[in-house]
Amino acid sequence: MSKNYDVIIIGAGPAGYVAAIRCAQLGMKTACIDDWLDKEGEPSPGGTCLNAGCIPSKALLESSELFERMQKDIGGHGINVKGLELDVAAMVDSKDRIVGDLTGGIIALFRAHGIEWIPGHGQLLPDRQVRVTPHKGSRHTISAEHVILATGSRPVQIDAAPLVNDRIVDSEGALNWTDVPARVGIIGAGVIGLELGSVWQRLGASVTLLEAQDVFLAIADQQIAKAALKMFQKQGLDIRLGALVKSTKVIKSGVQLKYTDAEGEHSLTVDRLIVAVGRSPHTQDIATAEADLLLDEGGFIHVDDKCCTNLPCVYAIGDAVRGPMLAHKGSEEGIAVAEQIAGQNSEVNYAAIASVIYTKPELAWVGQTEESLRQAGVDYHSGVFPFTASGRARAMRETGGMVKVLSDTGSDRVLGVHILGVHASELIGQAVLAMEFDASSEDIARTIFAHPTLSEALHEAALAVDNRALHIARSRRS
Ligand code: FAD
Ligand code: AMP
Repeated sequence: MSKNYDVIIIGAGPAGYVAAIRCAQLGMKTACIDDWLDKEGEPSPGGTCLNAGCIPSKALLESSELFERMQKDIGGHGINVKGLELDVAAMVDSKDRIVGDLTGGIIALFRAHGIEWIPGHGQLLPDRQVRVTPHKGSRHTISAEHVILATGSRPVQIDAAPLVNDRIVDSEGALNWTDVPARVGIIGAGVIGLELGSVWQRLGASVTLLEAQDVFLAIADQQIAKAALKMFQKQGLDIRLGALVKSTKVIKSGVQLKYTDAEGEHSLTVDRLIVAVGRSPHTQDIATAEADLLLDEGGFIHVDDKCCTNLPCVYAIGDAVRGPMLAHKGSEEGIAVAEQIAGQNSEVNYAAIASVIYTKPELAWVGQTEESLRQAGVDYHSGVFPFTASGRARAMRETGGMVKVLSDTGSDRVLGVHILGVHASELIGQAVLAMEFDASSEDIARTIFAHPTLSEALHEAALAVDNRALHIARSRRS
């Protein structure tokens, strides 16, 4: 039986919509199904990233940072601002307009590439057939030579803190409050908890984060994480480690939490609570039992290193499969799968994917941490350069943090780069590029960076690997 499409993609997040565009560029007849509806109940492609993740959180982080700077830092530049006022509802509206422009942009890109955009729910049936339940119209079945599953992830919910209207919310709810609660509690001091905590703290809330683990940001290099923790605490974020939330109760004056730590049981009352305890793959009803799609423990779709599932010509990408839950990781998998379908030999370099936390200062890293290198028994050198010694950082009055380069003792190959500081999210791209080209720390040390730029700190950290950083009294190689 002939198929309706070359490729059907289920999910139009950054993994699925990018895969669709690349398939269309390669001349394939492509359809993309997505079931996301916006606040008005309209179909809205872009997945979590555009609708409730990367973009709206960065819009609010940007707006709230501007407000805080105007309030606290701007005087240092010799600028006095009088009559500063905050309009949270307008800030949230501005965020929604940014999201609307970008999701509308995806619909336009689909049109421009001749991709059939199907708003509705998709479910995989045997033999690469897909049952479509459209938002408008009746249920029907379509088929393709290849199917790509890109159904993403959803916030983890815990029994200790069931969601309650706008009082106990997940990350999406916390992007839509239109007033500033006096006291905000957050369960989970991971990436999302820290970003949302920063937004509401900058806007005036007193924020307490309860984190079950004893170690702060265990995924990050611990020298960087420890320095960041000190800076966040200085800003006023109350981060309590080793604090396991056991129960929550909505009361008249807010939300009462009970948690335990090494000292015993405690209670805490806040006005509103954000549950930010991680995300789980969105795969519960992705395929019928007859389709026989294999899921791993934890509900991730089982894939090999080429994103092939257990079914022929069925692939899975993005948050729904193993690996870091990051938009750019899913997009790259989408591109690689599209190119594999077209007969090319594409793959994803999982060793060079940057992670970023968009707090102030930002944390950004790529590759190995000192902890992971020690654990693997790899001999390495570390070069560190603090932003206090950067002329540009001083001119910006943003001197917190450092750049750290880790390189292999024998070959000098760069194994990891870790940045805590202003614009770390942009600076890390240079390190990713270096690692993509298998650079040595000497390659970075020999590269000429413009002066005065923050990038010079990466140069100096690479020089510090060989004890020859120029703008610190004693280079800190270890
Ligand atoms: P999603 O973006 O989750 O998209 C999946 C889509 O598939 C959704 O639209 C969903 O409705 C749809 N779908 C699911 N099942 C079906 C079905 N059966 N039929 C039809 N449609 C279906 N990552 C970063 O890299 N940088 C950041 O700064 C960042 N910030 C974040 C901030 C927050 C608050 C959150 C929550 C996440 C953030 N992330 C960030 C993570 C990022 O959003 C995800 O990694 C990314 O969206 C995953 O992309 P995806 O395409 O795999 O899935
Ligand atoms: P991330 O996966 O980066 O979003 O981080 C989520 C964090 O939430 C992890 O560090 C978990 O340890 C933490 N967490 C999960 N459940 C609880 C809980 N009941 N109380 C406190 N912290 C929790």
